Amino acid sequence: MAVPKKKVSKSRRNMRRFSAAYKIDKPESSDCAACGNVKRPHRVCKCGFYDGKQVIAVNQPNLPVQA
Ligand SMILES: [Zn+2]
Repeated sequence: MAVPKKKVSKSRRNMRRFSAAYKIDKPESSDCAACGNVKRPHRVCKCGFYDGKQVIAVNQPNLPVQA
């Protein structure tokens, strides 16, 4: 929503600009449900897991053992 320029303090304006720039450097991430690694959302994990299913066969000997 548009706000008159003089109503936004320098502090508030700068805080808004900083938080916007900060977000660009930190892309969204989520944890893989299978191996717990950090992964980008809506991407297949390194372990081949996506949406609760093994979608790609990956040979990784250092994966945590699943019960
Ligand atoms: Zn994974």
